[in-house]
Amino acid sequence: MSQTIGSSHERPLRVTVVGAGPSGWYAVGALLDAPDLAVSVDVLDRLPAPYGLVRYGVAPDHQKIKSVSRVFEKAARDERVRFLGNVTLGSDVSREELLDRYDLVVYAVGAQADRRLGILGEDLPGSWSSTEFVAWYNGHPDFQGADFDLSHRGVAVVGIGNVAMDCARVLAKPAAELATTDIADEALEAFRASRVEDVYVLARRGPVQAKCSPPELKEIGELPGVDVIVDPAELEDPEAAGEIDRQSEKNLELFRELAERGDRGSPRRIHFRFQVSPVEVLEADDGTIGGLVVERNELAPSPGGRLRPRGTGETEVLPVTAVIRAIGYRSLPLPGLPFDERGGVVPNDRGRVVDPDTGEARSREYVTGWVKRGPTGLIGTNKADSAETVAAMLEDLPGLAAGAADPRPEAFTELLESRGVRYVTFEDWCRLDELETERGAAAGRPRVKYCGIDEMLAVLGELEREAEAGRPEPARAAEG
Ligand code: NAP
Repeated sequence: MSQTIGSSHERPLRVTVVGAGPSGWYAVGALLDAPDLAVSVDVLDRLPAPYGLVRYGVAPDHQKIKSVSRVFEKAARDERVRFLGNVTLGSDVSREELLDRYDLVVYAVGAQADRRLGILGEDLPGSWSSTEFVAWYNGHPDFQGADFDLSHRGVAVVGIGNVAMDCARVLAKPAAELATTDIADEALEAFRASRVEDVYVLARRGPVQAKCSPPELKEIGELPGVDVIVDPAELEDPEAAGEIDRQSEKNLELFRELAERGDRGSPRRIHFRFQVSPVEVLEADDGTIGGLVVERNELAPSPGGRLRPRGTGETEVLPVTAVIRAIGYRSLPLPGLPFDERGGVVPNDRGRVVDPDTGEARSREYVTGWVKRGPTGLIGTNKADSAETVAAMLEDLPGLAAGAADPRPEAFTELLESRGVRYVTFEDWCRLDELETERGAAAGRPRVKYCGIDEMLAVLGELEREAEAGRPEPARAAEG
């Protein structure tokens, strides 16, 4: 009689989680905690460093939030888990090859792309997405060497979510404060030379509808050398009332406090502007940005009751020469998986990948995190989300007739080796982590990041060579 996969250590359930960000690690944690489950999990990531958005998205001056990586580290150190970094789905391995070697596949790939405004001039030099900007200052390998020129005096940040708060804060913060963080060295240089004086945060709706969380807003009000400018009249607009919950009440209170303080002659200013939408990025004679045209909005309830912005035709030009759109992230389609273009997610039922044509759940494939629910929520939100996906996986186990064709753990690493893929293990990462932290300690910083994939692999290669050179000859070691 055949045995249910995962019911004994002779045939543990083999799972791969694609993506070593928060949702991926929370899924691993839920699998490890599942009672009576014999499981072994490989966590893949296209980058050599684990932790996804914790390393590359959370702002460098928010180290406390980054400490959640300790929870993930605990999972990574479990003997049932392997981290295999520097492995890219699509180029190093195909989806079919994963399905051949793992019983279940969980895609936890997040949302790597950005949303667009769809306005004239959006692609001019100096118009950036927050995705690029944040990844650049956090040392993401894909964005090193990107041309983020901070010689601008006026910068617009479009959107009023927490990513917009991060961008505005980092732009206005004194470089000396950034220098004590793990910000990428290249970005630190640019911030040291920054000439930014005015940052305009643009909300298309009112203060009540601001998506930022009160602690993030409060922090903006506490930045040294920065005045926060809010027009009191924009806070009392009766049109923007409604939808008030505890968060918006608190935000409103903070905006009122900030409006009272006003301009105190500080060297830098963050201006909050409400009920305005960018309609055109103006091009200067030299091809750079010459200003941003914004249109005043009125708010009207949609059939669902949500207040929506509607242009009034009244426009003004903001004196900015750089624009950062922080209007949300977007997941990208994965090879061989269905994708809901409108929602920017993989269609799913509580994490089970669903074929939109048939409405049927696909066997053995699951999603979690932003690619499952869209780019919303804090890091901790992923815990419950991944628990839901893992619950669906476990529910489906008894019906799983056949799993992977070759579930041996070596089957996957042999495949990588046969292709010359230099995968990075968790032990490798720990060595890099130690070196980054040592470099940081020498500079009074939490860490100094290695920002390039080649750089990380070169450091690991060097360590390997040193270890080999220092290792005693096997014969002599036996004699001794
Ligand atoms: P978000 O919270 O969804 O905010 C997006 C903002 O962009 C909203 O203000 C939205 O306005 C605006 N927007 C969208 N489309 C627009 C358009 N076409 N024109 C003008 N404005 C537009 O997204 P996010 O800031 O990218 O954050 C993503 C998630 O990560 C959030 O859950 C956030 O809380 C979390 N996060 C947390 C932290 C932290 O805890 N410190 C830091 C960063 C991110 P509407 O409301 O009108 O749609």
